[in-house]
Amino acid sequence: MSAVLPLSSSNSGNSAVSTVSSVPSAMEQILQVEALSVSFDGFKAVDALSLSIHRDELRVIIGPNGAGKTTLLDMICGKTRPTSGSVRFNGRELVGLPEHEIVRAGVGRKFQTPSVYEDLTVMENFEISIPGKQDVLGSIFFRRKAHVLERIHAVAQEVFLQSMLHQRAGRLSHGQKQWLEIGMLLIQSPELLLLDEPVAGMSPREREQTGDLLRRISRGKSVIVIEHDMDFVKRIASKVTVLHQGRLLSEGSAAQVQSDPRVIDVYLGH
Ligand code: ADP
Ligand code: MG
Repeated sequence: MSAVLPLSSSNSGNSAVSTVSSVPSAMEQILQVEALSVSFDGFKAVDALSLSIHRDELRVIIGPNGAGKTTLLDMICGKTRPTSGSVRFNGRELVGLPEHEIVRAGVGRKFQTPSVYEDLTVMENFEISIPGKQDVLGSIFFRRKAHVLERIHAVAQEVFLQSMLHQRAGRLSHGQKQWLEIGMLLIQSPELLLLDEPVAGMSPREREQTGDLLRRISRGKSVIVIEHDMDFVKRIASKVTVLHQGRLLSEGSAAQVQSDPRVIDVYLGH
């Protein structure tokens, strides 16, 4: 079981207790991307891309630089508006929704470079990430509640920062900042996490720990992670999607895509 406990919040459709009429299933699709495209000045960065992610799935997306990996995440989280196509999350169309609505629907996004508040402590970074604060006073009251503190401690432990709660975030290592940012997402109890190169700049030991962390998170949530390091990919991946020039090149287990001649040709052979 995940160490992360659900926190009642303003997140809609994000309850740990399923009350929907459909039968919950491990194979239920949580995200369906269909024929998604975006052009920048006529250049197709993502081109008629379709993929789907199941509940409890940890999906790795790989591909050469410029393949459209980051742009795909940008479209899922509402940062970039697609030219055409659809992104359905729990059956709901996300295309056209503002970013904060997509966050509220249960999609959490981590960008390529860690963005934590360096002057605040680890604890304070977690506190400001907790959803459901109405105003400053409500926020202070809310933060002091025992269950909030419990929740912060559980998340801090999950991301290996339990002994760092009172450190200034600026003093963390690059890898620890990546973990803090993952924790800041977890505290919002997303159903789907989008992580763009979360092990970049990490030591081998930190990578190993992050692999364990991602596997743990994906039990009960879905995770899409963009990664380059094939050793890391092999260790964590259940299924790998390979993008090339904005299109889906190959999909399968790490072993399958690694032996796919098309993948070797455009990506792994170099
Ligand atoms: P990846 O993450 O796979 O390395 P990106 O998704 O960042 O690739 O970029 C895919 C392509 O789209 C690249 O050629 C990039 O230069 C281009 N691109 C991405 N965002 C923009 C933008 N806002 N304006 C113009 N071109 C962009
Ligand atoms: Mg990228």
